[in-house]
Amino acid sequence: MDFENTREFARGLDAKDALRSYRDEFIFPKVDGKQVIYFVGNSLGLQPKRTKTYVDEVMNDWANLAVEGHFYAEKPWWDYHERFAAPLSKIVGGLPSEITVMNTLTVNLHLMMVTFYQPTSKRYKIICEEKAFPSDQYMFQSQVKFHGYDPKDAIVEIKRREGEHNIRLEDVLAKIEEVGDELALVLIGGVNYYTGQVFDMKTITAAGHKAGAFVGWDLAHAAGNIKLELHDWGVDFAAWCSYKYMNSGPGNASGCFVHEKHHQNSDLPRFAGWYGHNKVRRFKMEPQFDPVNGADGWQISNLPVLSLAPYLASVEMFSEVGMDKLIEKRNLLTSYLEFILHEVDKEIEGAEFEIITPSNQDERACQLSVFLHGQGRTLFEYLMKNGVITDWREPNVIRLAPAPFYCSFEDMYEFGQVLKKGILVKDKSLV
Ligand SMILES: *Cc1c(COP(=O)(O)O)cnc(C)c1O
Repeated sequence: MDFENTREFARGLDAKDALRSYRDEFIFPKVDGKQVIYFVGNSLGLQPKRTKTYVDEVMNDWANLAVEGHFYAEKPWWDYHERFAAPLSKIVGGLPSEITVMNTLTVNLHLMMVTFYQPTSKRYKIICEEKAFPSDQYMFQSQVKFHGYDPKDAIVEIKRREGEHNIRLEDVLAKIEEVGDELALVLIGGVNYYTGQVFDMKTITAAGHKAGAFVGWDLAHAAGNIKLELHDWGVDFAAWCSYKYMNSGPGNASGCFVHEKHHQNSDLPRFAGWYGHNKVRRFKMEPQFDPVNGADGWQISNLPVLSLAPYLASVEMFSEVGMDKLIEKRNLLTSYLEFILHEVDKEIEGAEFEIITPSNQDERACQLSVFLHGQGRTLFEYLMKNGVITDWREPNVIRLAPAPFYCSFEDMYEFGQVLKKGILVKDKSLV
């Protein structure tokens, strides 16, 4: 499509947007009385209006039923998590039995590593991406040390080539082959949090398996953002947080995928707790652990229902719309944002933006990470003061993620206008 950098054109795209009514389903913060342009749905999604109803329902059931709520609440608490299996299985491409919701992301990845990282003196290495999200790096280091290995030896990072921002698939595959029969686990962020690069999970998973390793994915930036086929790709496990693209609220529950092929493999260890125990016998308080047949068998504790309720509200919105429509809008919206950035760069001397996210649509999703060569942190601060919420990453990058659920094409146009002003204003502190 030939884009134009005008308000009229942007409004035209909004008028044709099949998801436009969903914008009103979200609550936008305001700056100087004006609704913000929100680019950080990749960090904390906006609050859907319907979420409050879901939380209130639990609060009311708790008030009116107290302990009886476990079995007699509107949505009984003791198996509240089972409501996620069907809708989430569509969002991430799994079977309902492969999905559970529990804990938080890093905790779930640790639990998955308890199962899928069983190093031996020969096969003990983990392949991950260079500059993985810090929580993942700490997790790898602590897991490796816990098993008595040396992180410097056991953790193998796939590097970017000199002068390149993204990791090449061929380099991932070459590294897997090189580590070969020393490789125990491949665990990578499916969408890189910094650059927005989307990895070819299908190909990498197959390569990891060929080397005899397990393959898992951290889907923090992928769930609710890209098309996933976890079951068909044969992914062993995956986990994601729900508060980024999935709009479930700060620090809320994490989703977890365990492939069917592992559900009944009793050779794989796991950390157990009573909520992973055979559902119908859970309250018999027997000493022998008999896991639920499915991802729910990795559950440990009583469910955090007040954290699950907002996620359920969100998952139901995703089910109404479906990933295909979200992805269609995401691609158009992100391309329009890319166009706007290039326009501003052309118009304004010294803008010098470099989009470090791949330009190829198969390798990117919602996010554009922009290296501000000609600008610094003051431009970011100017944007924030003027109602454009982005985030800053050292050394000089802003990340822009126009979430298709609630961002409009006019937002992208308006952002371009604010951006231009921000670059032209010499002393940004005066504005
Ligand atoms: C956001 C994010 C996390 C956050 O982990 P929590 O345990 O939810 O705090 C982990 N990994 C990646 C790749 C992320 O982007």
